[in-house]
Amino acid sequence: MYCQICGKGNAEKHHIIFKSQGGKNFLLNYKYLCPDHHRGNISPHKNKQIDIEYKEELQKELEELLTKDHYRLEELINLLGMQKVEAKKTFKHLKQYTEGYNNREIVFRLLGDKFYA
Ligand SMILES: [Zn+2]
Ligand SMILES: [Zn+2]
Repeated sequence: MYCQICGKGNAEKHHIIFKSQGGKNFLLNYKYLCPDHHRGNISPHKNKQIDIEYKEELQKELEELLTKDHYRLEELINLLGMQKVEAKKTFKHLKQYTEGYNNREIVFRLLGDKFYA
């Protein structure tokens, strides 16, 4: 994989919402970064500003992806590229409306029970 910032090879998979912050495994939560852009001085692990910037970007991307008010689990699995088991675990405490899960609540959950933007 190539670094999404500078294009160098040997990129590592970064979780935009860290696993320690409740980050889940889904495609938009991954950012591929070379060692410098991953853990160097200008990286989300060393620079709070960059970290927050990536998280705000992720929130915007999720909001653009989830344009309907409600989604069913199967739709989320497909849209997010998430494993079924993890999706079930992720959304099991969300309120189930007749039409499915609410998009705001889905985004909140995927951001680790927090909004950034
Ligand atoms: Zn890089
Ligand atoms: Zn990382």
